[in-house]
Amino acid sequence: MYRDEGGATPIMRCIKEAERRLVASQTSKGYLGAEGDAEFTTLLANMVFGDALAGSPRLTGVQTPGGTGALRLGAELLARSQDKPEIWIGTPTWPNHAPIFQEAGLSVRVHPFFDDATGQVDFGSMVEALGEAKRGDILLLHGCCHNPTGAGLEPDQWRELVAFIAQRGLVPFVDLAYQGLGDGLDADAAFTRALISSCPDTLIAYSCDKNFGLYRERVGALWVNAANAAETSIIRQNLLVLARSLWSMPPDHGAAVTRMVLSDPELAQLWRAELTEMRERINGLRSQLAASHPRLAPIAAQRGMFAMLPLGPGDVETLRTRNGIYMASSGRINIAGLTHGNMDAFASAITPFLDRAQSSPSIVV
Ligand code: PMP
Repeated sequence: MYRDEGGATPIMRCIKEAERRLVASQTSKGYLGAEGDAEFTTLLANMVFGDALAGSPRLTGVQTPGGTGALRLGAELLARSQDKPEIWIGTPTWPNHAPIFQEAGLSVRVHPFFDDATGQVDFGSMVEALGEAKRGDILLLHGCCHNPTGAGLEPDQWRELVAFIAQRGLVPFVDLAYQGLGDGLDADAAFTRALISSCPDTLIAYSCDKNFGLYRERVGALWVNAANAAETSIIRQNLLVLARSLWSMPPDHGAAVTRMVLSDPELAQLWRAELTEMRERINGLRSQLAASHPRLAPIAAQRGMFAMLPLGPGDVETLRTRNGIYMASSGRINIAGLTHGNMDAFASAITPFLDRAQSSPSIVV
C-alpha cells in the first residue's frame, strides 16, 4: 500500500469529501445487480481508455470486487472457452496471479520477464519463450508499474510486442492496477490502449484500490473489448452469469465514491492533484535510492511502488536482526515505505551487501 512521509496510508481528500456527500445524499441500500454501479464503470472506462473507445459497442465492462475480482472473473470466462487456452505469465509476477488462473481451471505457462543483472525487462528471452504460445493463448501483461520489479518495456519494445501479439493471434489480458502512479494517467494507459487498438480481443482487469487509496473497499472493474458488437453482447451475458455465482453483486461503497469523484469536475481535479503528489513522492524516493549505490541505479527508471533489491534471503535476515529493517526475503520492497528522513540510514545499512560480490536474489513466482 502507498504510504506518505509519516508512514500512513491516508484516505485521499477527494474520497473523504465524496464519502461525506454520499452519506448525506444516499437514500437506499437496495441491491444494484451483478454488473454493479454502471455509471462508475462507464466513467472509469472513459478515463482509462480515452475518447477513442467511449461508447464503443465492442467494449463491455462490469464492476468487480477489486482488481483481484476482475482477474478472477476474466479467468472464469476464459476457462469456459472451447479452445482451452493456456495463460502465459512472466516471472516474477504478483504472487496471486498464478493461483487465480489455476483455481479457475486454466493451465499456466511462464516466460522470463525480469533480468536481475540489468534491472530491466529481459525482452529477448521473453519474446523467444512466447514463440511457443499457440494462437488463442492468453498473455497476462502488467499495464504499468510492474509488481514486484517496477521494470517496464521501453516504448519501442511495447510497440514490437503489440505487433507480435497481433500477428501471433494471442489474446492480451492486461492487469492495470496502478494507473497514474508511474508516469501519469495517460502515459500509464498507453500500452493498454495500443493493445486494444491492435488486437481483436483484449481483457482488462482494473483496480482503483491504489490510485484512489480505497484498498479495503475493494474497487475494480473488468472490461472485455471483443471483435464485434455481437460477441461483446454474448460475453457480457456470460460475465453477468459468472459474477452472479462468484459474488452475486460487488460491494457498492467504494465504487459509488469513485463515481462521485470522476463525475464532479472539482473532485476529479483534486483527485488528479493528489495522485500526482503520490506519484511524485514515489518517483522522488526512487531517484534518491537509485543515487545511493551504483547497483541500485536501475531503480530510477523503474516505476510504481515496488522494487527488487539485489539482496539474498540471508542478507534480508541479517538486516532484520541487526538493523530492524524489514522486507520480503526476495528483496522486494515497497518504495513508498521509505521516507526522505530514513533513506540515508536505509542506504547505509544495505550498502555493505551491495558492495559484496553480486548475489543472485531469489525469484518470486
Ligand atoms: N494486480 C496487481 C499487479 C497487484 O499488485 C494487485 C494488488 N497488490 C492486484 C492486482 C489486486 O488489486 P486489488 O487489491 O484491487 O484486488
